[in-house]
Amino acid sequence: MPPLAHSKLGASSSKRWLTCPGSVSLSQDVPNRPPTEFSEEGTAAHELVEWCLVNNRHAESYRGQTITTDAGFEFFVNDDMIAAVQTYLDEVVKLFTSKPGAVLGVETRFSLEWLHPGCFGTNDTSVTFKGDELIIMDYKHGKGIAVEVTDNPQLMYYALGALGPDNKENVKKITVVIGQPRAYHKDGPMRYWSITVEQLYAWCYDVLLPGILETEKPNAKLEAGEHCRFCPAKPTCGKIASVAFEVAKVDFAHIKPNQPIELNLPDIRRIPDDKVTQLMEFASIFKGWIGSLEEYVQGKMVGGGQIEGMKLVHGKSHRKVADMNQVEKIFTENGLSVEDTVNVPPPKAKTPNQLELALKAHGVDRKLIKDCISVSKPLKAVPETAKGEAVLPEGQAMAMFAGIVPQPQPTSGV
Ligand code: SF4
Repeated sequence: MPPLAHSKLGASSSKRWLTCPGSVSLSQDVPNRPPTEFSEEGTAAHELVEWCLVNNRHAESYRGQTITTDAGFEFFVNDDMIAAVQTYLDEVVKLFTSKPGAVLGVETRFSLEWLHPGCFGTNDTSVTFKGDELIIMDYKHGKGIAVEVTDNPQLMYYALGALGPDNKENVKKITVVIGQPRAYHKDGPMRYWSITVEQLYAWCYDVLLPGILETEKPNAKLEAGEHCRFCPAKPTCGKIASVAFEVAKVDFAHIKPNQPIELNLPDIRRIPDDKVTQLMEFASIFKGWIGSLEEYVQGKMVGGGQIEGMKLVHGKSHRKVADMNQVEKIFTENGLSVEDTVNVPPPKAKTPNQLELALKAHGVDRKLIKDCISVSKPLKAVPETAKGEAVLPEGQAMAMFAGIVPQPQPTSGV
């Protein structure tokens, strides 16, 4: 499906902007974060869900196929992706066949313009039983943070999108479902929560709309918390920085160039138990902020910008399988099987190292799969005093090179 314009008041970020309304204007001029392998893997898994539902096929039937995301990342449909996506698909089928008269919606675009301009989105899956129940399902491929379903504003936003301003299908009950098969949650991979239509509309007018209007106020409130994790404004947000430095007992205003930062951290053994939870919550905010700072510095320097006292060095090289079909071919041609390319349990494609070891264990030259493996050596921004030889980003190196190598002169064309 072609990418949809992104709403700054979108469902997926609603938890953030409902808690921190100021984040919307603060994020306005911040360039989009470059896609990461993790975020793009989620996009690829969503694509697989859509293929399966639209074509009425099992995830297994796409095994070995490559999914290329709009950002150019390529993912193989492997055991891990098949198992996760099929868990979700099984639940969709179970709900769809639970009662007669079900209508399935896949990647349905909707608009909440009836509530407020600029509010729209796409929801993964819906199952509607006219005059009875609307079920909104959301697939999450992430395995880091298990998302809660109760009071989840993203799913309630989707439900409003499907319901519209006047509940044309006359449904009585709304059930929202999060399917997150790869993350542990005490309630399992498929989590349900139900409310009535009246409760949903009450939330719409008592919480969502006032929350939207808050984001439009000049000097809208900034509130740091766990929702800062994916906020685009994180690298430039003074609020999260001040919370971070306040807890670390660092006065941000007094940080001077070329002077050590004085940290006055408490002795961990003397921290009262009731403060530990607060500090642990802060730790995740602080880690996220540091991550954004690194991302920002790195992005700026790799893009050709300079920061005094910092340099770029080559980070650890990273190898990944670029052509699994070819690896499987080489394995089978040399007396191994496709199963030898996978670790069990849980089923997971072997790393390049493990594949080479598997070949070696069978007396096969490990170099045979050399061309199926790509190697990247990302640049990393570090202080000038850190180990490692300074390197120039590609663009800058070419610009310097252009200065010493004679450039082709334009011809007059006469
Ligand atoms: S980083 Fe946190 S506090 Fe700052 S704007 Fe974003 S959500 Fe709000």
